[in-house]
Amino acid sequence: MEALRRMILEKGKGIGNDIVKVDMFLNHRIDTNLLFQMGEAWAEEFRAEKPEMVLTVEASGIAMAVAAAHALGDIPVVFAKKSATMVQNEDVVQAPVYSFTHKTQNMIRIERQYLPEGSRVLIIDDFLADGQAARGLINLCWQQGAIVVGVGIAVEKGFQPGGKALRESGIHLKSLAVVDGIQDGNIVLRPEED
Ligand code: 5GP
Repeated sequence: MEALRRMILEKGKGIGNDIVKVDMFLNHRIDTNLLFQMGEAWAEEFRAEKPEMVLTVEASGIAMAVAAAHALGDIPVVFAKKSATMVQNEDVVQAPVYSFTHKTQNMIRIERQYLPEGSRVLIIDDFLADGQAARGLINLCWQQGAIVVGVGIAVEKGFQPGGKALRESGIHLKSLAVVDGIQDGNIVLRPEED
């Protein structure tokens, strides 16, 4: 997606040789014009799959999930939580996720009532690296008997194995930008396919 690619090149930062920092427009400060364009791009890709809800994980995925859900006709957004809260119902479904950025293992959880059996689910997240977060969300859907109609990602790190593995498992994956590497602090983007 051209607008996101341009923003990554102009305002994104490469940290070391494997971290892409997009805090200026996605992860800390949000460029809302770009955000809603991203929502439209995912909606165009996945509309035919007839998603009934968008699923993400707190916190960074939520804004992107809302943009996609709005563009898909104001379907609901459900976000998995990373910690148990006092007000949470006991009846939760959980899956382990190893965090690439924090190097810790978390459980993600959703109250079962918000992920009904048979519902058509579009998963949205900000980054795809090793694919742990996406697989954790897919795991929650499988446990609930929900149908994963696709996975929409803002930035796929093409030099990590998550994207390849998801595509090979037959998941309909759409990454709006793919980073091929970081060279001298500069982000190298993969040329757009279409
Ligand atoms: P994965 O689970 O695919 O290994 O990593 C995806 C998750 O880790 C995303 O939800 C994102 O929060 C975080 N992440 C992985 N790589 C990066 C990165 O280069 N930059 C940022 N900002 N987050 C990342």
